[in-house]
Amino acid sequence: MEIVTSNSINVNPSIFLVRLIARIITPGSPVSNSNTPSVDFQVRGPFSVGVLFTKMQTLPTVLVRPGEADRVIAGHPWIYSGSIIRLTAPAEDGALVQLKDHRQRFLGVGFYNSKSKINVRVIAPEKVEVDRRFFVDRIRAALQVRKRHLPDATSFRVVNAESDFLSGLIVDKYSDVLVVQISSLGMDQRKPLIVEALQEIFSPRAIVERSEASFRKFEGLAEANGILAGSLEGAVPIELNGLKFDVDISGGHKTGLYLDQQKNYRLVAELIRSGQVLDCFSFMGGFALHCARAGAAQVHGLDQSVEANAAAQRHAQNNALADKCTFETVNVFDWLKAQTAVRPHERVVPKFDGIILDPPSFTRTRSAIPDAMRGYKEIHLRALKLLRPGGTLATFCCSHHVDAEMFEAVILEAAFDARRILRRVATYTQSPDHPILPSVPETEYLKGYAYEVAV
Ligand code: SAH
Repeated sequence: MEIVTSNSINVNPSIFLVRLIARIITPGSPVSNSNTPSVDFQVRGPFSVGVLFTKMQTLPTVLVRPGEADRVIAGHPWIYSGSIIRLTAPAEDGALVQLKDHRQRFLGVGFYNSKSKINVRVIAPEKVEVDRRFFVDRIRAALQVRKRHLPDATSFRVVNAESDFLSGLIVDKYSDVLVVQISSLGMDQRKPLIVEALQEIFSPRAIVERSEASFRKFEGLAEANGILAGSLEGAVPIELNGLKFDVDISGGHKTGLYLDQQKNYRLVAELIRSGQVLDCFSFMGGFALHCARAGAAQVHGLDQSVEANAAAQRHAQNNALADKCTFETVNVFDWLKAQTAVRPHERVVPKFDGIILDPPSFTRTRSAIPDAMRGYKEIHLRALKLLRPGGTLATFCCSHHVDAEMFEAVILEAAFDARRILRRVATYTQSPDHPILPSVPETEYLKGYAYEVAV
C-alpha cells in the first residue's frame, strides 16, 4: 500500500493541521465573503436514486494513477496532482468530482481544487449529495464518538478534519460556543451549510470562525475570522474535568485551549499529586492546575507568554488554587540551563517531585528532525537532573515527524547522560476527540510517557 511520500509530507499544508491549527489562533479580521453554497443535487423523492445516478454521471471524473486506489480505499482522502492521470471534463475549483482508478473503477467523490497541491479531498466512498443533511449526519456521527469516549466533557473537538472524514474542517466546542476552522476551498464554499448544520445540532450561543492564514494560503484562501452566527462578548467560561477555565475566543491575540490534552491532564494528575511540581510550557495552566487540585504542595509553571501566564494565574484563582500555583514568564531552555548550571565536580541538587514537559512542536519538516531531537534531548537532560529519585516525569511530543520510538530513544539518551534509570509508568496519546485513523498517519501526532526515576 502506498502512503504519502516523505517529499509530499514535507510540503503538505494539512499535516500539521491537527494540533497546529488548534495551537494557533491569530488576530482578527472580518469574515471573508464565502461563495454561494454549492448544492450538487437538488432532487429528492421516489426517483431520487435514478436521478442521483444520472446527475452523478455528469460530475467531472478524476482518474488516478495505478497504486493510488488502495490508499484511498483505506481512508486516506488526499489526492496530489502527481497522482492524477487526467480529468474527463473541466472541474471548477471547490466543485464535487468523482474519483476513479485507472481502470475506471469508482473510488469516491471529493472536492476539487486545482490551486492546491492536494487536488482532490475525498469526502465519501459512495455517491453523496453534499447538502445540509450530509453535514448534519457527518457531524452527528463525530459527536457520537465524543459522547462515547468523553461522556462527561462539555468542551471538546467536535470535528477533527480527516479523522472524521471532513478534510478541511475543524470544529471545537467550548461550552455553548463553537469555533470553526476551515482550511480547504471545498469546505469554505459550503460554509453556510456547515453553519446551518451546526445550528441544527447544537443551537449554540455563537459560532465563531478562526481560520488561520498559513493553512488557507495553500488552497488559495485568505484568512477568515469573525462571528458566523449569534453573538459573543468577552471570554467563554468552560470546565475541563471539573476545573474552570475561560477561553478568549473573540479576542485579538492567540487563544484557545489544547483540548487534545484534556484526558492526559487527568491521567498525569493521578501520578503527580504531591510535593513540588514544575510545569514547563504551562500555557493556560492545564497540567499545573490539575496537579495542584490532585494534592501537589506547590506548582510552578513556566511559559514565555505573558498573556498565557496571566490567564493561568487567573484560572488558579478561579479554582481556589492560587496559594499553590506560581507562573513565571521565561524561556524554558534558559530557565532549565540556569537551574542546572554547576561548577565542575559539583552536582545539581534535584528540587522537584514531578515535572511536566509539554513543548510546542519542535519541527514542522522532516529535514528539521535533527534540530528537534537536540531540543528534546536538552530539556529532558536538564529536567531529569532536577527530578528527585522516585519523582515522576510526564513528557509529551506533538511533532508528527517524531514518532513514539524516536521520542523515547531521545529521552533514554538524556537519562543516560544524567545517570538516571527510568521506570516507564504510563503511555499517553491525544484525547479521543482527536481520533487517530492508522490508515491516515497524519492524524496521529501527540504522544507522551510518564517515567519514575528508579535510581
Ligand atoms: N501544556 C500546555 C500546552 C503547551 S503549548 C497545555 O496543556 O495547555 C506550548 C506553550 O509553550 C505555549 O504556551 C508557548 O507560549 C510556550 N513556549 C514555546 N516555546 C517556549 C520557550 N522556549 N519557553 C517557554 N515557553 C515556550
